[in-house]
Amino acid sequence: MYVVGREVAHRLLTLTGVLGDPVGHSRSPAMQNAAFEAVGLDWRYVKLPVAADAFAETVRALPGSGYRGANVTIPHKEAALAAADEADDAARAIGAANTLTFEGGRLHATNTDAPGLIAALPREPRGLSALVLGAGGAGRAAAWALREAGAEVSVWNRTPERAAVLAKDLGVASVEAPTAAELVVNATSVGLKPADAIEELPVAWIDPPTLAIDLVYGDHETPFAAWAEAGGAEVVDGLEVLVRQGALSFERWTGREAPLDAMRKAARASSRA
Ligand code: NAP
Repeated sequence: MYVVGREVAHRLLTLTGVLGDPVGHSRSPAMQNAAFEAVGLDWRYVKLPVAADAFAETVRALPGSGYRGANVTIPHKEAALAAADEADDAARAIGAANTLTFEGGRLHATNTDAPGLIAALPREPRGLSALVLGAGGAGRAAAWALREAGAEVSVWNRTPERAAVLAKDLGVASVEAPTAAELVVNATSVGLKPADAIEELPVAWIDPPTLAIDLVYGDHETPFAAWAEAGGAEVVDGLEVLVRQGALSFERWTGREAPLDAMRKAARASSRA
């Protein structure tokens, strides 16, 4: 935010950003700033690195510094929900929020990871069998989103107790070993490191799906995407899901339709650095 001349004009930039620890790798600034530019809004989106013990205090300070809203990433998504005055159904059911909006002195929390995943799908998941690998924050959002959209959802997790808790909370099934499904979502962090191998996920003996989503993205093809593609699946990558959740955050803050092509282009061009 800056002020141009006391009497003449106050030019207050509207700010948004991403709160996380770490946030150095985030592609959201490139993607959201490209979106603001594409629709002609003089807004900025910045990285907001913040430690867990400073999260609530930082969030409270943001509106006074010109912030309209913020995305929230690891490890603050649960804290974001706890800090909010109000939350939508998705955030409450999942137990985590990735989008905060400051409106009328109140803090609104939503979860765009869930509808973003559904928006990234090339077809309706209603009636499909869906297997979610992973029971962390992304697994919870994926399982809830797919259940809401009418898929038959089961969840597998390396630590089975976590899958069982998720299944009970969200009213889906948990499985001790992956079973074949028409749609498989990788919501584990396997693939984040270039050295990660598909053998870390026990999927080798199940039939590949017809549709696969890998929430993990990077500068290399992920082992899960390579496995699904080799089996003939149509693959949606994590960058498309990132773009779709970002588009919904953009629309929540600005009230404008998100310029998807500009966001896609910027997200794909931005390196993980
Ligand atoms: P998280 O809460 O830390 O959960 C990590 C999950 O990965 C847990 O289920 C964990 O299982 C599992 N896991 C980790 N290492 C594993 C291994 N070697 N083998 C099998 N499972 C393993 O993280 P998160 O927030 O859910 O995020 C998960 C991934 O999704 C991350 O890579 C993140 O970048 C990505 N993501 C992408 C988007 C997007 O827009 N594309 C959005 C959100 C998240 P245990 O419970 O056994 O530890």
